[in-house]
Amino acid sequence: MESFEEIGLSGAILKAINDLGFEKPTPIQAQAIPLLLSSDQDVIASAQTGTGKTGAFGLPLLHMTDVDDSSTQGLVLCPTRELCLQITKDLQQFGKYIKGLNIVAVYGGASIRDQIRALNKGAQIVVATPGRAKDLLKRKRLVLDNINRVVLDEADEMLTMGFKDELDAILGAMPEEKQILLFSATMSKRIRSITKTYMDDPAQIETERVNTAAKN
Ligand code: AMP
Repeated sequence: MESFEEIGLSGAILKAINDLGFEKPTPIQAQAIPLLLSSDQDVIASAQTGTGKTGAFGLPLLHMTDVDDSSTQGLVLCPTRELCLQITKDLQQFGKYIKGLNIVAVYGGASIRDQIRALNKGAQIVVATPGRAKDLLKRKRLVLDNINRVVLDEADEMLTMGFKDELDAILGAMPEEKQILLFSATMSKRIRSITKTYMDDPAQIETERVNTAAKN
């Protein structure tokens, strides 16, 4: 398996990975990162929590962010406030040596004013729950004109929680030319409807379930 160095991530990211003690990419990272660094193709990955999926989408997302541009370039959508905060923390750790990088979390149940203030400072990456993202979009506080990558994390959960309308509103407000990365533990009919509507010739990544070893 290729090392993080061989995959071609920037020095700042490699330094942060080293601080975290990650020795080599997890299987999903080994598949996803080289693909995302070299191609704009949409990606569907079936992956559960615990597989290193946040690094699989987060490391390339950070690598490709233009920090000289303060507009929002990457959007990560996830089902819950807890996951939103966890992803934000992980991305901030991965990106801690990238100067000028700003990552903002927006989610329901917290002050929208504070979140608007944070967005106004310029956030290249926004991590959001769908309801709050749609609200901020409607208020023109979340601007998606320059988005080039969107991650749908735990897409199955977002649909189970009833966020289909929000996802449609958000995905519909983005430029045509963008890469969509969809992560889901299951590939239901409803997920396939999203992939059919919004994704273009997606690459598929499958990794073994994490709990296989535990089961054995
Ligand atoms: P995730 O599936 O993204 O929630 O990650 C699960 C856990 O694995 C987190 O605690 C990560 O910090 C950790 N992790 C992610 N990538 C690696 C790696 N390449 N090596 C070791 N641990 C990792």
